[in-house]
Amino acid sequence: MKNWLVEQLQRMNLSDVLVRPQGFTREGYTSEETEAIEVFKTIAEELGLEASEDAAGNAIARWNVSGGQAAVAMGSHLDTVPNGGAFDGGAGVVCGLGALKMLKEADFEPQRPIEVICFRSEESSRFGVSTIGSKAMSGLLDPSIGTLEDQHGVTLAQAAESQGFVWQELLNAKRPKEQLKCFVELHIEQGMHIVNHEKDYGVVKGVACPIRLAVTFNGKAGHTGTTPMDQRKDALAAAAPFISFVQETALQVNDAYGNGKSLVATVSTLTVSPNSMNVIPQTVTAGVDIRSVDDRLKMKMADAIRSEAKRIEETTGVAIDIEVLVDNPSVLLDDGIARQLVDAGDHEAYLAHRMDSGAGHDVMNMAQTWPSGLLFIPCKDGLSHHPDEFAAAEDLKMGVELLSRFLMEATANAGNS
Ligand SMILES: [Zn+2]
Repeated sequence: MKNWLVEQLQRMNLSDVLVRPQGFTREGYTSEETEAIEVFKTIAEELGLEASEDAAGNAIARWNVSGGQAAVAMGSHLDTVPNGGAFDGGAGVVCGLGALKMLKEADFEPQRPIEVICFRSEESSRFGVSTIGSKAMSGLLDPSIGTLEDQHGVTLAQAAESQGFVWQELLNAKRPKEQLKCFVELHIEQGMHIVNHEKDYGVVKGVACPIRLAVTFNGKAGHTGTTPMDQRKDALAAAAPFISFVQETALQVNDAYGNGKSLVATVSTLTVSPNSMNVIPQTVTAGVDIRSVDDRLKMKMADAIRSEAKRIEETTGVAIDIEVLVDNPSVLLDDGIARQLVDAGDHEAYLAHRMDSGAGHDVMNMAQTWPSGLLFIPCKDGLSHHPDEFAAAEDLKMGVELLSRFLMEATANAGNS
């Protein structure tokens, strides 16, 4: 199985190695992504599965059974960020296929269909919007995003059309709720929690979605040599304590309200204008990214930021505007599915770590319609979106064993429960 997984992952990465200095560049709705998805369909057919593609270009490998029951679905993606790795997305796709191979070889007879879905364009690196294929499948696609452009001025709609899809028809990829019973995504962890807790794999409780703020400090420019210190409105000097405030307050919010859940908050960008050696900074915009699976904690943090901004305004005379760029509620995954994923590990003698995900995945969209779960396997040094991204064949094989055990339980009966 290990060799098979590595070989199929190499085929889908269009490469005979899985780590290389330049990494893998296979962005959403490019011919490289289409080529990888074609390989996915070929492997599906080699396994005796039905391969098809929907109006958004999501590929579906289906183990059909007669009777038309709702399918148990798994899946992930094959697009990458520029110079990314072979495992982010690919691990979930190959392990899904591997689980079906394992069940077929064991002559298992599922009582309902099983699908492996390869979603289109999961990464946000090209158009600034993530998980486009799974948004379309779960009916969450806003067609107005078709006008978003990549760095070469190609719109998302044009990119989809270049790969043979009609932008307005992407909405047709939406599937009726009755078609699926549940959905599980396997993904590399992109962090070190599993290893640090001395466990084998992760079962995710919730996906933390961000509040993102653009905080703009409006000071007054002036000559650094001639403007007296007591007559200044220095936007950067006003922003400096704000940065420390965000860091310290995140720690305090966790102490005071955390209750087992935690929050992270980061001033991750800073734009200084005019950014000139002899001019007092006139405007500074700080980008703040706040995440927790507990939306209450995110609100507390955002509220604290607003009051601190008022205090800084009053003491410095620098006016502060706060723009909310993103405020997405976090996604809680299905408890029942999570329990089944933990049970699968008990059965196969692997230890599960219950955890949250700080990064978004296709499962966030699927979870809006279907009971959904997310399984993490470790990756080396927690590294992803990097040419050195790596997951061991041993861990891919564990993923296959966990998924196939889960599938055996989830497809054992054809009833609705
Ligand atoms: Zn991914």
